[in-house]
Amino acid sequence: MFDNLSDKLDKALHVLKGHGQITEINIAETLKEVRRALLDADVNFKIAKEFTNRVKEKAMGQNVLSSLKPGQLMVKIVKDELTQLMGGDAEGIDLSGNPSVILMSGLQGSGKTTFSGKLANYLKNKKTKKPLLVACDVYRPAAIDQLHVVGEQIGVEVYSDRENNDPVAIAKAGVQHAKSNGCNVVIIDTAGRLAVDEQMMTEIANIHKAITPQETLFVVDSMTGQDAVNTAKAFNDVLNFDGVILTKLDGDTRGGAAISIKSVVNKPIKFIGTGEKMEAIDVFYPSRMADRILG
Ligand code: GDP
Repeated sequence: MFDNLSDKLDKALHVLKGHGQITEINIAETLKEVRRALLDADVNFKIAKEFTNRVKEKAMGQNVLSSLKPGQLMVKIVKDELTQLMGGDAEGIDLSGNPSVILMSGLQGSGKTTFSGKLANYLKNKKTKKPLLVACDVYRPAAIDQLHVVGEQIGVEVYSDRENNDPVAIAKAGVQHAKSNGCNVVIIDTAGRLAVDEQMMTEIANIHKAITPQETLFVVDSMTGQDAVNTAKAFNDVLNFDGVILTKLDGDTRGGAAISIKSVVNKPIKFIGTGEKMEAIDVFYPSRMADRILG
């Protein structure tokens, strides 16, 4: 995960990690390289610049040069700032409703259906949760079939209605079905399109209004780099969602989306997808991710 970024940051911090004398000049050079590494990883220019400025300010505030181990202190500052940039603390999902309604949003192909299954499986394994999956993609019969396949695979019931072409009505009926059948979590999988468009946004906004979910999650493919961040912004403007799901982190992704998304939409990344299998889901811990990136 993020091998290229890790390598570059490792090289950038190499001088500081050694035990040679550390000067203001090599701190400045290091920060320049750190910024370059972030840009190469597809982090937007403004975020990368603000990041290195904050590191510099902190380093001055903590009198790095006169500290006992200046290099180690610098590396720690970079790590702490990277953690903050990605969200600080891990944030869970709100499961206080009965049923708790979770609405999935995102573009087609982002991994919504796969993640809906993963989340249902994850919650089902917690024993106190009985999830229901609801198929609200009325445009692609194959999407409904796909959710049924996933449901069967993990042993979770799927609610769908192939005769109905109103996603709002299906979502409401799904929640009702959960209530009548003792399901305490409802995960609503919605239709996405290949790019942000008005009809998709109106539809998801209408579903959101009709069912008032506890959690609205935005699913995004981390391989799409800065586009991931732009799409997040478009969905957040309409839905004011609660959290981000970053998928396909097992692929050859550069890391820009993971690093930038929080500061652009000010919403936490809650889970990550790390493979096609139902078990490939992890809670997102910013500090663990920063440790991983910085080695
Ligand atoms: P949707 O259109 O948003 O519902 O997207 P899908 O759930 O159908 O996923 C699109 C493709 O991405 C499928 O081939 C999935 O198997 C794949 N996929 C989803 N999540 C992940 C992931 O975390 N890692 C990998 N490698 N593939 C994923």
